[in-house]
Amino acid sequence: MSTLRFFAIKETLNRKPVEIIEGKRRSELFGENVFNKETMRQSLTKDAFESVNNAIEKGTKIDRGIANQIAQSMKDWALSKGVTHYTHWFQPLTGTTAEKHDAFFETIDGGGAIEKLGGSQLVQQEPDASSFPNGGIRNTFEARGYTAWDPTSPAFIFGKTLCVPTVFVSYTGEALDNKTPLLRALNAIDNASVAVCKYFDKNVKKVNASLGWEQEYFLIDSALVSSRPDIQLTGRTLLGHSSAKGQQLDDHYFGTIPSRAMSYMRDLEIECMLLGIPVKTRHNEVAPNQFELAPIYEEANLAVDHNALLMDVMNKVAERHNFKVLFHEKPFKGVNGSGKHNNWSLSTNTGVNLLSPGKTPMSNLQFLTFFINTIKAVHDNEELVRATIASASNDHRLGANEAPPAIISVFIGEQLTNVLKELENVTNGKLSPKEKTDLKLNVVGKIPEILLDNTDRNRTSPFAFTGNKFEFRAVGSLANCANPMTLINSIVAKQLIEFKEEVDVLIKKKELKKDEAIFNVLREYIKKSSNILFEGNGYGEAWEKEAEKRGLSNNKTTPKALKAKVSEKTIAMYGDLGVMNRVEVQSRYDIEMEEYILRIQIEARVLGDLARNHIVPTAIKYQNTLINNVQGLKEIYEADFNRVAHAQLELIEDISKRVDIINTTVTKMINKRKEANQLSDLETKATMYCEEVIPMLEEIRYHCDKLELLVDDELWPLPKYRELLFTT
Ligand code: ADP
Ligand code: MG
Repeated sequence: MSTLRFFAIKETLNRKPVEIIEGKRRSELFGENVFNKETMRQSLTKDAFESVNNAIEKGTKIDRGIANQIAQSMKDWALSKGVTHYTHWFQPLTGTTAEKHDAFFETIDGGGAIEKLGGSQLVQQEPDASSFPNGGIRNTFEARGYTAWDPTSPAFIFGKTLCVPTVFVSYTGEALDNKTPLLRALNAIDNASVAVCKYFDKNVKKVNASLGWEQEYFLIDSALVSSRPDIQLTGRTLLGHSSAKGQQLDDHYFGTIPSRAMSYMRDLEIECMLLGIPVKTRHNEVAPNQFELAPIYEEANLAVDHNALLMDVMNKVAERHNFKVLFHEKPFKGVNGSGKHNNWSLSTNTGVNLLSPGKTPMSNLQFLTFFINTIKAVHDNEELVRATIASASNDHRLGANEAPPAIISVFIGEQLTNVLKELENVTNGKLSPKEKTDLKLNVVGKIPEILLDNTDRNRTSPFAFTGNKFEFRAVGSLANCANPMTLINSIVAKQLIEFKEEVDVLIKKKELKKDEAIFNVLREYIKKSSNILFEGNGYGEAWEKEAEKRGLSNNKTTPKALKAKVSEKTIAMYGDLGVMNRVEVQSRYDIEMEEYILRIQIEARVLGDLARNHIVPTAIKYQNTLINNVQGLKEIYEADFNRVAHAQLELIEDISKRVDIINTTVTKMINKRKEANQLSDLETKATMYCEEVIPMLEEIRYHCDKLELLVDDELWPLPKYRELLFTT
């Protein structure tokens, strides 16, 4: 009997939910471990507080003297909560988070010691980070990177450590992290949106992008994971036959949350409250053991940090509950994958959501302006949109016929489709008074504040308008939201800048009134971007054909998709906006290509090992039992033995055949990897992994999964799908 598998199952069956005691109300816990505005207001001098506030609101610099004061208060606050260390917390290009802990503790002359955190330590740190991926940037200029405080994201305490959110840049200022380009993109969208808002309201001074993410994940018992090297090392099952019962009955979706998972979620939510992450909803997802967590939306930079922090916290809390969290986009074949919807909108300092229809025709025209410009931005950059969410793991979702497809399209609902149709017919040039009134009363004025048909959303769309926000659904569950947010805010900023230029030209040169000019430009945008709008079933084959006719890209794999990230168009767009320069763009492409290669390489190694050292020996052991059985039958039945040993003989043959295929394919796969590893060009190498190694992974898996159906269950070494998915 395979001891580890059965031991793990037994462990899992004996588990009890961890008891969670909720003393204080959640609202009282909220933000308790955050050095937020309220805490700062109480602990800083007026000058210092204003300086931080200006840095947050206007992006002004904080001078050294004030930084010292802030560091002092931050340290005192942290010490009062039993904290011993501090760290600069940042998001390197690995997509995870990183930290380097230092003690506050410092010795002083005379043998004593004090707790210290100076302004310079707060504002700048030099982590020994030479092994973070940097795509060659750091080597070219300077051996080291620097972290610097981002005051727009407040410091927080996690465990016994004060964490200071920081950017991570090279000595020469190039971004080595995900946050720096995001902050620049948020600045770009702010400026571009404010300029356009001025057509409608002179009081608009600042526009913030907001993000509400929805995090999907699987919870699997840690003992079961320990007996699955593939889950442990790659985050997904590289083999495993589908369970007789999967998600066909849809009985998990919004069903009762299993008690162990419920206790995990409550524990997690309490941690989130302390950290000021405003989580609000939790529910089961479509697949067994799949769940979702979503917060109230926040300013985009903060929301990005909160999502990255949440993923860390989820892992840590899971340990207490004997769970492992799977963030992989497709941990189980044939079972729903996990995504991370990014709900995005723009809001002004005057309290208006620019993607929400308003009460008056003028506010609706403002809404339409932002709405149509976003559609145009996605249309003009659809390939880059796809590229931004490409990864080895997300490839299993995109283009795999069951999640958002690799084709980017925008869903807007019937009501708005009709509005755009009307606007397409607006007269070229000056509008007659009658047409203007008509537009205001019957088209723009008729957009209701709440768009009803959008509640019945098209779940198959990768980019959907959902009433007062766009929902970018194709983002993978493992992704750092900084990337999709940098993208959307950049392409829309670029689009708004162009829009303003075009409208201004019509006003000045053609002497059109402001609203006439806006209608004229929007009309052209609707015509130009109609190809990206799609209301039908995005998962259907018919759409693939239709999209091809429309000239939309359908890049199903990461090596193909990523190319759009380094096109001259992309480099110009990010460069013009000041979001990333050529070197920064190129280095990110290199890092992502390398990461793709490494991930497939690891999967290939793990599967090679599993197939040869776990599956093949098990199959042979079972085959030997069959052989003994056949020999016994031959003794008893002699010449007639064929009649009674018929099934066994077939099984013996089948096992031999599959063992042979597995063995030869593993050898071929190893050789192919060796060949690929000789290549120095990243694109050719990634393509070889993608087009030649991955099909071998699939071939090996296919035969291992067939053996799983043949071999005695008692001998099978790895927990099966039904055990992984239905034991909690
Ligand atoms: P679902 O997609 O599961 O049906 P909802 O559409 O109700 O869920 O909301 C999903 C998320 O959208 C929530 O996390 C919420 O915080 C976020 N959200 C709501 N309004 C906005 C907004 N104006 N900007 C950004 N995110 C928003
Ligand atoms: Mg959603």
